[in-house]
Amino acid sequence: MKRRGFLKLSAATWATLAAMELKGKGLFRPKVTQASETGDLPGSLGAKEVPSVCEMCFWRCPIVVKVKGGKVVKIEGNPLSPANGPRVCARGNSGIQLLYDPDRVKYPLKRTGARGEGKWARISWDEALDEVAHNIKKIKDKYGPHALAFFDHGASAEYFREIFKELGTENYSNEPAFFQCVGPVAVAYLTTMGYVVSGTRQYVDMSHTKAMLLVGSHLGENLHVSHIREYVEGLARGAKLVVVDPRFSAPAGKADLWLPIRPGTDTALLLAWINYVIQKNLYDENFVRKNCHGFDELKEAVKGYDLKWAARICDLKEKDIKKAIEILAEARPQVVIYPGRHSTWYGRGDVQRHRCLAILAALFGAIGVPGGIYFPTPIPIGEAECLIGKEEAGESDTPLKEKFPFAEPFPGSPTNEIIKATLTGKPYPIKLWGVCGINILQTIPNPYQTMEAIKKLDFIFSVEMLPTETAIWSDIVLPDAVYLERYDHVYKNDELHPFITIRQPAVEPLGEARPPYWIAQQLARRLGLSLFTCENEIAYLNGQLKEIGLSVEKLTRAGGLITFPGKPYRDPNKGLNLATETGKVELYLEAFADEDFDPIPKFEPTPAPPKGYARLIYGRVPVHTFSRTMNNLWLHNEWPENEVWINDEVAAKLGIKDGEMVVLVNQDGYKSNPIKAKVTPGIRPDAIYLAHGFGSRSPRLTKAYGKGASDQFLITHYVEDPFMGSSSHRTSFVKIIKGGRTLDIPELRPLPPEIPRFKIKEA
Ligand code: SF4
Repeated sequence: MKRRGFLKLSAATWATLAAMELKGKGLFRPKVTQASETGDLPGSLGAKEVPSVCEMCFWRCPIVVKVKGGKVVKIEGNPLSPANGPRVCARGNSGIQLLYDPDRVKYPLKRTGARGEGKWARISWDEALDEVAHNIKKIKDKYGPHALAFFDHGASAEYFREIFKELGTENYSNEPAFFQCVGPVAVAYLTTMGYVVSGTRQYVDMSHTKAMLLVGSHLGENLHVSHIREYVEGLARGAKLVVVDPRFSAPAGKADLWLPIRPGTDTALLLAWINYVIQKNLYDENFVRKNCHGFDELKEAVKGYDLKWAARICDLKEKDIKKAIEILAEARPQVVIYPGRHSTWYGRGDVQRHRCLAILAALFGAIGVPGGIYFPTPIPIGEAECLIGKEEAGESDTPLKEKFPFAEPFPGSPTNEIIKATLTGKPYPIKLWGVCGINILQTIPNPYQTMEAIKKLDFIFSVEMLPTETAIWSDIVLPDAVYLERYDHVYKNDELHPFITIRQPAVEPLGEARPPYWIAQQLARRLGLSLFTCENEIAYLNGQLKEIGLSVEKLTRAGGLITFPGKPYRDPNKGLNLATETGKVELYLEAFADEDFDPIPKFEPTPAPPKGYARLIYGRVPVHTFSRTMNNLWLHNEWPENEVWINDEVAAKLGIKDGEMVVLVNQDGYKSNPIKAKVTPGIRPDAIYLAHGFGSRSPRLTKAYGKGASDQFLITHYVEDPFMGSSSHRTSFVKIIKGGRTLDIPELRPLPPEIPRFKIKEA
């Protein structure tokens, strides 16, 4: 088998995985008194200014926090940042309302009612930590380390992940954001190009491009300041935009051409485009000859996919898809074939869809050039010695991911495999969960299954700032400090204009909330683990920074941020030397063939909705992050609830008017909260859309509770990706209930015979 070869490739690209922040490393002790203040500056109205890093989403923009009278009064972007400059988005600005949210968990809590009831008693830190440590030890001693599992996301969780790794379990989910989001696209680009073009970061040069292709990506609805800035700069400079999406999304509104594709058929369109580009000689012959492996095999494999066929499968007009590919080809090599981030759509076929995007970019020679995909610039940050325990990451067994041959280079285990093992006790019993920074019931498909799994646990604890759905199912809740109250890691940005920066506390934690380093250190001591041994956080940070001749003091004096020269583009006179098996872009993938996957993507139809149903699709709104910000006062006021998008012709046939309240019911009989209908021609008749993250079911989130409908509680059917074990999110289907009557969705776009329907009895 070629898995060894693939692992070699994986080792060579380890730096890229680190760049994805999949390998949490350095940690340090918070000490607010050492927070740096740069003094009064013009415009700060006498407030002290603390340079730091936003954590209202994972993008981590450098910020300046303004503090007056011991309170945070304003948050702005750090003007030194080449990424965001003085800008923050609405969420970055509203960090203050997370900090001072009256619903915050400010004390350690112990459950007194049933799991899920949200009945708690306040206890001391010692009691809480002793109980967590006691249960971890007891369960590990009785069942072994695999009985422990950890669900993690964000900066705080990185500390606790180290504890679980040191305890010897591989049952951490390495951010459900990986197995529920970027997993397939990460595998596609790692195998095809040797690095993860699209993980936490996306190495696409939109500001210098002449044309962009977005397939199901909603830039502007999912919003990260520097990214959007580059996208808008590109458009302002005249870049053409092609958007493929069943819904008239925000970017569709800016597009030169919007292709409202039948959901589940994107790969058919991409394969037909690849064939067209080859047949019409629209590819960069010089680049392909020098830098691509398997062109002849690709040419042969895709020759049956033509535009006419794709138009019928995808329910698009042939002339439109021809025009779209010609717009993109004309711009080559300055064309962004956008890799996308959220890629867990259909389970089967997700990796190959992203392979098609990577192949198209390679055919256009749009790799390592201005206006195309570029390379990250390495920034040498030191190791966190105080975090290196006895167990090295990767040494423990990984039985939950063994059946997924391309999961190996990524740490952790597939989230749904952890949940299934908890339910079944196979391949081993899982009896304890820790959760940090992730609201699992609003993130992972089939929350009903997740709740059943929680009922089977001996113990569950969470480290949380807010009383989320997951917190109210926990036995112990440990109150986490908000990012404005603590130090965290050295952050490096290795994009077009690289820099490093650090998070520093602006104020003391409220109540008895404690920074995650302190909590993890206390827990590690009780568990007898030799972790978190740095004398203090400043010593730790200095240890990391000395590698590049810096210290916390120097960095702070420089305004909290230092830039580096970037090296994003290739030398046009040299061939690529990628970290793939051939050193080239792998159009034909030997490693896939070795594992009985198609070495060149093929079209595998995703089952269409059953008769009477529409496919449930979802997206984001620009003022919210996942389900994390719905209780934030300012953001709640801005966007308090979602609406359900229903095609206008469908609504007319069903007698549903814009603004009317309806309920959605899925193929398994699960119902949504009542929700307002948005009747619009901006969605296909075979799809129904909800913005993600609304419809909170935690009554302790007083602003978010019951507002809008949760997409996640309707996504009860999922398919696992066979490459790396992610779970699909677009394989559930809904009908509409109005006035107590369940209405069948009329079929307005006939289905081609090649596409099977989903059979409800299989659910
Ligand atoms: S994009 Fe907005 S929320 Fe995300 S890190 Fe930047 S300012 Fe914060």
